[in-house]
Amino acid sequence: MTGLNLRLPSPLTEVRDGRLDAKGIRLYLKRDDLIHPEFPGNKWRKLKYNLNAATKDGHSSLLTFGGAYSNNVRAVAAAGKHFGFETIGVIRGEEHNPLNPSLEYAVDCGMTLTYMDRETYRHKDDSDVIERLGTEFGRFYLMPEGGSNALALPGCAELIEEITVDFDVICCACGTGGTLAGIASALRRDQHAKGFAVLKGAGFLVDNVRELQEQAFGHSDDGWSIELGYHFGGYAKADQVLRLFIADFESRFGLKLDWIYEAKMMYGLMDLIDHDRFKAGTSIVALIS
Ligand SMILES: *Cc1c(COP(=O)(O)O)cnc(C)c1O
Repeated sequence: MTGLNLRLPSPLTEVRDGRLDAKGIRLYLKRDDLIHPEFPGNKWRKLKYNLNAATKDGHSSLLTFGGAYSNNVRAVAAAGKHFGFETIGVIRGEEHNPLNPSLEYAVDCGMTLTYMDRETYRHKDDSDVIERLGTEFGRFYLMPEGGSNALALPGCAELIEEITVDFDVICCACGTGGTLAGIASALRRDQHAKGFAVLKGAGFLVDNVRELQEQAFGHSDDGWSIELGYHFGGYAKADQVLRLFIADFESRFGLKLDWIYEAKMMYGLMDLIDHDRFKAGTSIVALIS
């Protein structure tokens, strides 16, 4: 569907490290961060079938929600630029003046920004809020916060068939859980998907993942689990331990992990390996979104 130069399948690389050898673990990185510089993270995979649906239904505008640093808002803005949609970004909280780099990028792509107070934002999925946005902006195709809806899942599921090594476990960071829901749906029964929540108190993610799978496929599966203990204080929070981990990982493997998502997953994964939570011989893929 695209004239975009997308790097698909995304590269798979093996991480070689004495600490992994000592535990008998093989670790691979699935580099979805390299798919396209303007679609951060897994957002291209989530958008793919949504853009098809928007086109098919004759939409000329896309509307989405997010915080001021949202990768999803950036990705929707980029999709608008590349595929000729008007885009509207509904941003949580106060107006940003001057714009931060994320929002400036979105505006440069042609996105119209509007701001929603936090109380209304909590109810952004309610029909009266959506109706009001329709009165203001006209007819639009709605991409939910984080880009996670039923059509996002098959796009994420596709990354599993790209993986050319046999593996037992695949790990990903969880914001909304859409990515986890998608990849878990594509696994064999003897494989497992493990999500690492980047938000504090993210027990609700379990229901989210189940609901998204039911919406997308008519049933949910149970080949997945979520680690809740590696949020480092909450969404977009970090401490010295995480910062040192990112620096150490970069010096060993030449990859600077995104601190909001991937660093927390990778820290958690290394910690589980350290604590012998995987038996020797286990082959693990970590999704770098
Ligand atoms: C959006 C995003 C995630 C979270 O994905 P969910 O499907 O919302 O759980 C993880 N990593 C990066 C880099 C992202 O942009």
